[in-house]
Amino acid sequence: MGRRFDNILGTVGHTPVVRINRLAPPGIELFVKLESFNPMGSVKDRLALGVIEDAERRGQLKPGQTVIEATSGNTGIGLAMVCAQKGYPLVVTMAENFSVERRRMMRFLGARVVLTPAAEKGSGMLAKAVELAARHGWFLCRQFENEANAEFHSRTTAVEIVEDFADVGLDCWVTGFGTGGTLKGVARVLREQSPATRIVVCEPDNSPLLGSGLRQSRAADGAPAASHPSFRPHLMQGWTPDFISGLTEEAVNEGLIDEVVPVSGDEALRLSRELACREGIFCGITAGATLAGGLQLARRSPPGTRILCMLPDTGERYLSTPLFADIETEMTAQELEISRSTPGYRFDRPSSAPPAPAAPAVAATPGAEAFLTELLSDPDRPVVMFALEWCEFCWSLRKLFARLALDYHSVDLDSARFQRNSEGTAIRAALSDRTGCVTIPQVFIGGDFVGGCTEVFDEFGSGRLQQRLQDAGVAFDSSVSVDPYSLLPAWLHPRS
Ligand code: PMP
Repeated sequence: MGRRFDNILGTVGHTPVVRINRLAPPGIELFVKLESFNPMGSVKDRLALGVIEDAERRGQLKPGQTVIEATSGNTGIGLAMVCAQKGYPLVVTMAENFSVERRRMMRFLGARVVLTPAAEKGSGMLAKAVELAARHGWFLCRQFENEANAEFHSRTTAVEIVEDFADVGLDCWVTGFGTGGTLKGVARVLREQSPATRIVVCEPDNSPLLGSGLRQSRAADGAPAASHPSFRPHLMQGWTPDFISGLTEEAVNEGLIDEVVPVSGDEALRLSRELACREGIFCGITAGATLAGGLQLARRSPPGTRILCMLPDTGERYLSTPLFADIETEMTAQELEISRSTPGYRFDRPSSAPPAPAAPAVAATPGAEAFLTELLSDPDRPVVMFALEWCEFCWSLRKLFARLALDYHSVDLDSARFQRNSEGTAIRAALSDRTGCVTIPQVFIGGDFVGGCTEVFDEFGSGRLQQRLQDAGVAFDSSVSVDPYSLLPAWLHPRS
């Protein structure tokens, strides 16, 4: 594959296969396929591209038409990339209990995310997507039944695996299932082109949809009629929804599964961490879960057995989930001990850093004075903030003003515009001559100096700020209630 691409979509697939060295039992050749190398960091980039291009080919998706899908996140993120690149608006429905990183990423890529109640599980978000698609004439991806999902895996993932093991052969291929696209699409090609490869499917041990042998009830149109009786909520986001999807059921019916392996949530989390700490491979929870299944298999396999596990996504998507629950934000006892082992740069001592060089003294200029006088008496700009672009205190004030829907004029003293001829520095000097205050931000309402971040926060708390705004005839949302100090970044809160 060349390394120069016409657009981002050309980088989907061709993910690397990497040997597991320290976690593999002796004598077993254990490999993982890292789907985190896809552009948006998960296996679902394949599905997104496959489904959208298939719909384009069939004429089911028209230029500019809105795309909609129900997704636990990775599909939505993949679709958001594909739709952004191709210019389709995207709406995603997602149960509220999936990690917030995912929602924010989709929105960052321009998608809209409609949340559904956690209690209504995967089938709730699916039903919402169907409802919205029907009402608005949007293109519904139907990842759980769409053959284009499996087909893309047959054309890409499966071919990559067959090629990567063509010289040595592959004894076992291990995967989980969400939509079942990876499972069905890869397994059918392996059956044909690598018939000696055993196909092993993992699922959560507390939610054994396949292991139970119970059938999925379906409505006349084939859609799941109700949650599968064996479904229980589990830790492996992206695996085993509360129903057996059409694609998964087809894989079962076509005899593509040789063995089902149950995996516990604890093992999944543990192995995700072990992969990171001991192999340097940073992956999500279902990756740890698939490796857990692969290791179960490895322990009962003869020496020389060659096993490949699918690792579906990157670990960065799980910062707010149980995967990172034990990962500290503050320094641990051990880290504090390292800090104390040398004298400098410690929190428990006065600063040992040399004082910062004083800012070059620039005096207020007549131009700067005139600028202030004019701005602070401008009736069209009753609220003025003097700010610095990078300053966290200024950002916290901006957040408060945004909450209040308050229109204000910001003079960013360090912006490129005010850097010319040291104009910003001269204005800052004129400002401190006027207010006696040397720090930034500084806020004025109706020409009156209110103060900096703390003063504005405190006046908001006492109601004085709201009174000033009313007196100056400034519109704002007076119903907002927020502790303004919560808008500061955590590192600026007083240390306890
Ligand atoms: N792991 C994660 C993290 C996922 O997001 C998904 C897809 N929902 C899967 C595994 C399963 O992949 P597939 O849908 O192809 O079965």
